[in-house]
Amino acid sequence: MVQKIALITGAAQGIGFEIAKELSNSGMTVIISDKNEERLKEAITERPDLKYLLCDVSNEDQIKETIDSVISQFGALHVMINNAGFQHVSMIEEFDTEIFELMQKVMVVGPFIFMKYALPIMKQQNFGRIINIASINGLVGFAGKAGYNTAKHGVIGLTKVAALETAAIGITVNAICPGYVDTELVRNQFQDLAKTRNIAVEDVLEQVLYPLVPQKRLIDVSEIAALVIYLCSDAAKGMTGQAVVLDGGYTVQ
Ligand code: NAD
Repeated sequence: MVQKIALITGAAQGIGFEIAKELSNSGMTVIISDKNEERLKEAITERPDLKYLLCDVSNEDQIKETIDSVISQFGALHVMINNAGFQHVSMIEEFDTEIFELMQKVMVVGPFIFMKYALPIMKQQNFGRIINIASINGLVGFAGKAGYNTAKHGVIGLTKVAALETAAIGITVNAICPGYVDTELVRNQFQDLAKTRNIAVEDVLEQVLYPLVPQKRLIDVSEIAALVIYLCSDAAKGMTGQAVVLDGGYTVQ
């Protein structure tokens, strides 16, 4: 069997790092990329089986260099996970325009450019699995998250187009829409959410988040990684263009 090569962006920590570990456990060669070199080195120290490449996904030259390095070092690219992202909470009137634009660059334009360079390689292989880590905020709105909601809705649209453009050639393109996952990205919002709701930080889970989540818990990173393993498997070859929701019931209410 051909050794599969997987590249994951924003994978020095959180969801991306967990996906990397699981894909490596499943036998793939996994390259983690991130803009944070210190964290990347810590991740590699914890898991020396992973390879790493420094890449800021808001920079097209760095994306091209990353894809070129993957091909020159590993000779193929089978799995591409667009995971890099960040949150910023502010009402529209006060939302910094530069931050809004950067959110689109990191979470929509970056995945678009990665696909632009990865798809010709995957087409030659007649095989590819692209997974874009979107969010439930790509399906429903949330006050205070204009930049994030816009980007995540956008990447779901991009996923559908890419799925249609590649449907006949062994490539699948899907988005995963997690609800609240227990990572720094969520915990860093507690301060801002407490401020906008005028409550104590330690009350954010019980008073703001849990009332929205029927399962009344945060999703674990391992649950997202398990879904990625399935989407990369042969069993999921008929699934493309989907926005797969994993949210403890948030969006069914
Ligand atoms: P995290 O903050 O723990 O990790 C995000 C990683 O992305 C960090 O390592 C960071 O350095 C990297 N990153 C940010 N900007 C980058 C850039 N310009 N170039 C390269 N790397 C960059 O967050 P997480 O919770 O693991 O989030 C991962 C993805 O999952 C994000 O796209 C996020 O929007 C999405 N998501 C998270 C949740 C959640 O509840 N945690 C829910 C839905 C979707």
